[in-house]
Parts: sequence; structure tokens; C-alpha cells
Amino acid sequence: MNVFVTGGAGYIGSICVEELLNAGHEVTVFDNLSEGHRSAVDGRARFIEGHLADREGVARAVRESGAEAVMHFAANALVGESMEKPEKYFRNNVADGLNLIDAAREAGVKKFVFSSTCATYGPPNRVPITEDEPQKPINPYGESKLMFERILGWYHRVHGLEYVALRYFNAAGASERFGEHHRIETHLIPNVLAVALGRKPHVEIYGTDYPTPDGTCIRDYIHVIDLAQAHILALAPGKCGAFNLGNGNGYSVREVIRACEEVTGKSLPAVERPRRPGDPPRLVADASKARRELGWEPRLTSLRDIVASAWEWHRRHPDGYPD
Ligand code: UDP
Repeated sequence: MNVFVTGGAGYIGSICVEELLNAGHEVTVFDNLSEGHRSAVDGRARFIEGHLADREGVARAVRESGAEAVMHFAANALVGESMEKPEKYFRNNVADGLNLIDAAREAGVKKFVFSSTCATYGPPNRVPITEDEPQKPINPYGESKLMFERILGWYHRVHGLEYVALRYFNAAGASERFGEHHRIETHLIPNVLAVALGRKPHVEIYGTDYPTPDGTCIRDYIHVIDLAQAHILALAPGKCGAFNLGNGNGYSVREVIRACEEVTGKSLPAVERPRRPGDPPRLVADASKARRELGWEPRLTSLRDIVASAWEWHRRHPDGYPD
């Protein structure tokens, strides 16, 4: 299939592009490189540097690519930042994204695959979380992703545009070639591994008074290659709707630090800090709908293997991507 990928220079996008190409698809990457890296774009893909705010430019790029499907990864994705700059999240994730859906519709694209998130749920009533859990986000990041899901739902009903919204839990790990490099790193696993690399003096634990067994937040970590595979499955005609993507296992911040110590063989000092605003205490997926309806089968499910693949990449790229 011919696939137009926004955010294909970013962490999850770059690995999805690699997997799409490995599976024989044709890929055009559209990215403004604000978060992504040019060298994270697989050389087999066509690359266009552009901004989703440029309505005409996006429309032209989608049309000229001959895309049959769009995968939309480009977004701002930091809970903490969204609590300080909500305007950035609504502008980039909702308003600019709308230009892309319209471009897709005008170009006769058959399928729109969207990077959504478990942050659309807010603190759930029941864990593990199923897709029918009420969506009540507690940060602007989750709200912006939910707004976009709703827009896609209406475009489907009114215009017949088929969409799949994939609600990621916590993406982690790396492929052999591509990994996680944010210019300002806020995510747990790369921050812990930065301590192992000697780049940071200690890990900061944001909140130790949550209602969880060890007082720290619990998340469901999912290997980025398994996420990528779900995107490829979502391309099949007729697949439509929202799907959770996680392993169904929750690990606390302290457990993640311990797993990183085991994998790296280093003792990693941690400092306790106050809670980070906007963090729900416990997010764990029930991904049985994705398994059942998409035929998704995650392979790299142990936290240890996920951390080991991230460590392998960070050890080989201690400074991340060159640009
Ligand atoms: N976290 C932490 N220290 C860090 C980074 C993150 O304690 O340096 C915590 C964060 O508060 C959350 C969990 O680790 O409870 C996962 O955070 P991350 O930013 O990796 O992903 P999120 O769940 O926010 O998407």
C-alpha cells in the first residue's frame, strides 16, 4: 500500500516507517523536524519537510504522494508540558491535524490511522482499561487526542472515511536502527538509562504517595515494534474504530528502575520528587479487542526485554541522533 506518514522522523513514527517498508509498503514521510530527526527517517522512504499548519502544502503533499492510507503520528505528546501550554496542544494536535484529515479526504485516502493514547481515559474506573471506559482526560494532551478521535468518528459517519485510533499505553524499546531520542527527555525509561550512561546523576521519581503498592505510578510498557505491527494490521480494509495497545501488565516507576538496574548491571540512584501534574496513578490496558479484531499479537512483552532493547540502542547511540 502507499502510505503517507506524518511524524515519521519521530520515535514511534520512525520505527513504524521501518516496519512498513520491511513489509513491502511504499512510504512518504511528512515531518517538520521540530521533534523528529532527519537521520531517523529510513532511507527507503520519500521525505518531505513540512508543517501541518500549512493547509495547502499538506493537501499538495498528500495528493502528490498518491497515498491510499495516512498514518498520523505528528503531535506534541508531553503530559507535563500540556499542563503549562494547553494552547500548543490544541493548536498542533487538533487544529493542524484537521488540515491533514481534510487533505486525506480530498485525495480519496481510504484509511486514516491515528496515534491516540491511554491519556484520553483519565483515571479509569476499572483496570485493566477496555475501550468502553469513559474518556475523561485530566490533561490537555489527552483532551487534544480525544478531540481528534471524536473528529475522526464524525468524518467516518458523515463522509465514510475509515479510521483506526490506536490508544497507546507507554511506548518503549527500540529497533536495531531506530530508537528514542527527544531533545528534551521527559520519559521514564530513557531518563533512567541516561543515569546508567553517566549522563544524569540520578533518576527523579515523580510522586511516591500514589494509591499503589509502592506509592509510585503504574504504567503498561509496550514495545515500539509491537505498536508498529498494530498499525500495519490496521491498514486492512474494514478495520475501523478505537483499540487499546498495551501488554496488560502494570509496572511501577520503582519496578522500572529495578528492571533497568538488572539490564544494565549498574546501581541507579533515585531521588524522590513531588507528583508531576496530570499523571493518573495507574494505567494498564486490556488490549483483547486489538488481538481479536486486528489479529494483533505482541511479541516483546517482558519489561526486561523492552528495557534491554532500549539499552542496546542507547549504548550504541549515547548522544542519540546526530542532528
Ligand atoms: N516519571 C518519573 N521520572 C521521570 C519520568 C517519568 O517518575 O524522569 C514517571 C511519570 O511521572 C509517570 C511514569 O514515570 O508516572 C511514566 O512517565 P512517562 O513520561 O514515561 O510516560 P507517560 O505515562 O507520562 O506518558
